[in-house]
Amino acid sequence: MLKKSLFLLLAFFAILPAWAQEETDDEYEDDEIELNDSLVVDSTSYDEIQMDNFLEDFLHEVGYYFDTANVPAMNSYDGWDMKKIHPYEQKLDSITDSTLLILVEGEDCFFHPPTVGNITSGFGVRRWGRRLKFHYGTDLKLTTGDPVYAVFDGVVRIAQYSKSYGYVVVVRHYNGLETIYAHFSKLLVVPGMSIRAGEPIGLGGSTGRSTGPHLHFEMRYKGVAFNPEKVIDFNTMSLRSDSLYIDKGLYDHIKEVKRINSAQYYKVRGGDTLGHIARRYGTSVRAIQRLNGMKSTRIRAGQMIRVR
Ligand SMILES: [Zn+2]
Repeated sequence: MLKKSLFLLLAFFAILPAWAQEETDDEYEDDEIELNDSLVVDSTSYDEIQMDNFLEDFLHEVGYYFDTANVPAMNSYDGWDMKKIHPYEQKLDSITDSTLLILVEGEDCFFHPPTVGNITSGFGVRRWGRRLKFHYGTDLKLTTGDPVYAVFDGVVRIAQYSKSYGYVVVVRHYNGLETIYAHFSKLLVVPGMSIRAGEPIGLGGSTGRSTGPHLHFEMRYKGVAFNPEKVIDFNTMSLRSDSLYIDKGLYDHIKEVKRINSAQYYKVRGGDTLGHIARRYGTSVRAIQRLNGMKSTRIRAGQMIRVR
């Protein structure tokens, strides 16, 4: 009884626009071009701030409630954060062990595809103007309003608005995996809700940093993203295996992420030559040419070139 009324109250407050939160996820999502401002709610008004605080307190209490009852894979995680999309400290170098996760087992524990559309952009390096960025998910085509489904059973950890992800849902599954579903036009769940595989969690859209309707889908274990295509065959919309080894092989993209993150750029000034710039950054003209795909040594003022 208490549980039910808590849920109703929670559902009521969670759908309020005040739910739109401060944002720190830019580095994780890069479906950019333009920010869709029409859905960004101004949460600075007095009433909304009051409501936010209330909601925070309330979630805090509900969090305690879930601590003992519903939170999946509590032994693999430090906590259960219903506000931050990425609350985990990522220690990439410490991934040495191999953990076997059971994905599906019998009829009670099954997989459901998140949507039926083709891949429009895969997990991996993506060129953004002159810069390289890492795309941490798989983009799947859909039409605004199409239902998107939870891929496994679990509990909703996040259902909120984010500047980069738009309306986004994060589900923690019982084996410890987390899945992220972004750019919804509408949320159909609230944090703390238990859901089954195949239940609709939102309607597809193009909110946040997105250029058109699609689902941005991520799979993460303890906060570290890996390629969903290693788990799901999106052509047949089925699992590649009933289980998944969490080991170094799953994270073989991390070297590339580090390379991109260490990239450094320089804005050319009048009078600069490639030779000067190379010397300043302790590199060679040839290395800069290679990084930028340049055939000649010609540069012009204002041009951004990658030096590392
Ligand atoms: Zn994406």
